[in-house]
Amino acid sequence: MDAPMGQLPTIAVAAGKGGTGKTLIATSLAQALCEAYPGRVQLLDCDVEEPNAHLLLKPAIHTEEDVGVPAPVVDLDVCVRCGRCAEVCQESAIAVIRDAVLVFPDLCSGCGACAFVCDAGAIEEVPRSVGKVHLGETPEKIDFVSGELAVGHPRATPVTKAVKQHIRADRVTVVDAPPGTACPMQETVEECDFCILVTEPTPFGLSDLGAAFETCRVLGVPCGVIINRLGSGFDGVERYCDAEGLPILAGIPQDRVIAEAYSRGETLLSAQPERGEQLLEVFRDTQRLSAKEALGDA
Ligand code: SF4
Ligand code: SF4
Repeated sequence: MDAPMGQLPTIAVAAGKGGTGKTLIATSLAQALCEAYPGRVQLLDCDVEEPNAHLLLKPAIHTEEDVGVPAPVVDLDVCVRCGRCAEVCQESAIAVIRDAVLVFPDLCSGCGACAFVCDAGAIEEVPRSVGKVHLGETPEKIDFVSGELAVGHPRATPVTKAVKQHIRADRVTVVDAPPGTACPMQETVEECDFCILVTEPTPFGLSDLGAAFETCRVLGVPCGVIINRLGSGFDGVERYCDAEGLPILAGIPQDRVIAEAYSRGETLLSAQPERGEQLLEVFRDTQRLSAKEALGDA
C-alpha cells in the first residue's frame, strides 16, 4: 500500500563499532521501504571516511559536488599583528608568532571567526576542497547520496553536513552513519527521527552498543536495536537491552547464505527477499516508538 504524502521520517542506522553489518541493514532497509514508498526513498551514506553503500546498492551516479571549507589566507602586508585571530580561534588553527601569522589548514574548521574579528581586513577566506558528494539513483529508484572525505583530510564533519543537506522532506530517508560515537557519528544521528543501533551478540558488541546508546540518549534521539549474526550463545545484549528498556527491533541470524551474498556485494534482500517484510516491520516499530517518545516529551 502506498503511504501518504507529507513530512517523511529520517532513520539513522548506526553502530558503536565497524563490522557489525550496519551498511547491510541500512541498504536492505532502503530496498524494503521501496515497496511501501515507491519512488520516495533515499539512502544517505554518511560514512564518509569509508563509504561503501554504493557497492551494495549499485547506483548510477549522475552528479558530483565538491565540498569546500573556507580557509583563512593572511595578507601580511595588511596584518598589524594584533593577535585577535589567534585569540578567537577555538581550534588553535592560527597563530601569531612575532612577525609571522601561521595558519594550520588541517586544524581549521572554517568557522570564519578569525576573519570576522580582523579589523584590519587582512584575512581572506579561500575555499579549500575537503571532499565530494556523489548523487545518483539505484535500480530500485532509491535516491542515492554518498559523501567521500578527501584523502588525508582529518575532518569528516563538513562532508557529513554536506550529505545531510540533501535530506528531502518528501522522502523516507535512511542514513548510514559512520561507526563509533565520535563527532561524525553524532553529526549524522543528530536531528534524525530515530536511530537503529546494529550490534552483534558478543562482549565487544555489547560494550560498543552501550556507548552508542548513551550517545543517542545525550542527543535525544530515540533508538532501538537490531542484533546481527544471532546464534553465538551470548545473551548479554538481550539482558542489557531489557535492563535499559532499549527495544530490540529484530534479530538476523548468522547465516552462510547472507555472508556469501555480502561477500559478492549483494544486500540482505538479494539473499533472502523474505527479510523485506521483517525490515518493514522494523520501520513501523521505529515510527511507533518515535511517536510514543514525542508524546512522552509533550
Ligand atoms: S586579526 Fe588580522 S591583523 Fe590581527 S593578527 Fe590576525 S590577521 Fe593580523
Ligand atoms: S576559520 Fe575558524 S578554525 Fe579556521 S583559523 Fe579561523 S577561527 Fe580558526
